[in-house]
Amino acid sequence: MYIDTHAHLDFDAFDEDRDAVIQRAIENDLIAIITIGTSVETSRKAVELAESYAPIFAAVGIHPSDCQEATEADYHEIEKLSRHEKVVAIGEIGLDYYKMYTEKPTQMAAFKRQIALARSVNLPIIVHNREAHEDVYQTLIKEKATEVGGVLHSFSGDADFLKRVLETNFFISFTGGVTFKNTRGADELVKQTPVERLLLETDSPFITPAPHRGKRNEPSFVVFTARKIAELKELPVTELAARTTDNAKHLFALNV
Ligand SMILES: [Zn+2]
Repeated sequence: MYIDTHAHLDFDAFDEDRDAVIQRAIENDLIAIITIGTSVETSRKAVELAESYAPIFAAVGIHPSDCQEATEADYHEIEKLSRHEKVVAIGEIGLDYYKMYTEKPTQMAAFKRQIALARSVNLPIIVHNREAHEDVYQTLIKEKATEVGGVLHSFSGDADFLKRVLETNFFISFTGGVTFKNTRGADELVKQTPVERLLLETDSPFITPAPHRGKRNEPSFVVFTARKIAELKELPVTELAARTTDNAKHLFALNV
């Protein structure tokens, strides 16, 4: 049994067949999917999906690429949504120095205030990090994000950064990128991450694992990523699935 801890089910890539995608996930042994907000609008949709389907849970937050125009009212709305019974995390939040759709100080302010929100409502955080490793790490420590914990999703960075993150209580998740022929070193990072700190995710509709690379990603494809990670960890896939599912249930307090 699997849990996809990071999908964007509200994105328009799923408008034609969202219900079929969710049913397919259930048929493929997924017992939960966390659908992730990136703005007020997508956070609202994430909560609506969680209200409509028992195995779906929501994370609410404003993504670093979407926070340039965010207003006080928007942050207030995120806080309101965060108190919904099916909201299990604040996210995705973080820093993106690769796309740089938002100036660094604005990204940093958004990241800090949403860590503060997570601490005030006692929810873990889902962290987006692109080429901002040092600032992400320092901010997690200084803002005491370790009080609530969370996950560095779609993990990127080198072995040294991974080592430092593993010294905190944060979890690590890798996407379908680990199934590619050229994993850009991700396979080594998987090997260095203890199973008790791993979560599974798809980041649907993006980063589709082999053998479906090139197509739209969906939660049921988490199985392919799990198989590859199990191979790298030299574990039966059933055991990898059971242990990462336990990790996710515990971190997000999922009642499944
Ligand atoms: Zn995402």
